[in-house]
Amino acid sequence: MKTAIGLDLGGTFIKAGLVTDEGTVRARVELPTRAEDNDRDVVLDQMRTAVDRLREHAPPSGLAGIGIGTPGVVDSRGVVYESPNLPDWDNLPLRDIFSSEYRVPVVVENDVNSIAWGEFLFGAGRGSRSMVCLTLGTGIGGGVVSNGRLLRGAEFSAIEIGHTTIDYRGPRCKCGNIGCIEAFAGKDAIVARATAAISQGRKTILSDLCGGDTSRMTPKMLYEAAGRGDAVAREVWEDVGVCLGALCTTLVNLFNPEKIVIGGGISGAGDFLFQPIRRTVAERAFRNMSAMVSIVPAGLGTDTGIISGAALVFQQ
Ligand SMILES: [Zn+2]
Repeated sequence: MKTAIGLDLGGTFIKAGLVTDEGTVRARVELPTRAEDNDRDVVLDQMRTAVDRLREHAPPSGLAGIGIGTPGVVDSRGVVYESPNLPDWDNLPLRDIFSSEYRVPVVVENDVNSIAWGEFLFGAGRGSRSMVCLTLGTGIGGGVVSNGRLLRGAEFSAIEIGHTTIDYRGPRCKCGNIGCIEAFAGKDAIVARATAAISQGRKTILSDLCGGDTSRMTPKMLYEAAGRGDAVAREVWEDVGVCLGALCTTLVNLFNPEKIVIGGGISGAGDFLFQPIRRTVAERAFRNMSAMVSIVPAGLGTDTGIISGAALVFQQ
């Protein structure tokens, strides 16, 4: 059995673990990223500390490698670019730094691409050959596995599914494009739908849940309200689900996946979200392709980032 270290680099925490090639986590470490120190060497040292602690638990046969999921755009040589939440995390040869220090194979991948691969190998995508993974949160991310391979572009690995235009006359997105799915179904857009309903005078328990202060509204309050039968909350999820269903229709028509795996905090809305997504795909996508796709919740849970990081090592 092979064992690898998976490291999930977040803006707040570094989560790392020793993971077997069956996807079992044998040891875990969590450290603050210390991005607020505004010094990239501090962040790199935190990563080294995490790796060093895990190496103490490595089997005598040694490590198969280290897999790192990082925010930002990653090129084919494991150099990271454009990661706004980490200090000076631009033009950083992360793969070479770690492979020269630890003398094991190191794989660096964009964090969402990494999750797509982890779900494919060990999570809800297991058993499929072609799969799309979406993560729903503040932003919308995604990765595509086609015929057993993670899809990459000419040079840079990030597949910016969240910035797919679903309405060419729609609202301006933070990325500069018009009508991206993220501008309709990202966290802020979801909350904005609910606050708009309240300001129109609609009666909803959401007003109580946020204590009368709509700036405190969260998607979690919207699941809770929907679960209690609140009409406004259910309408919001229905509408967001149709938007995501329109995106998934495009993904089905483009990639003919066997599975679309959906994770991230917003996916906690469960069937309030999944039902309109599935219905919209069934109504709109090409019939043969929509008939074979399963749209399912992600399967790796709280260890997603760790398992997915290690999965990068097991891809060869
Ligand atoms: Zn955008």
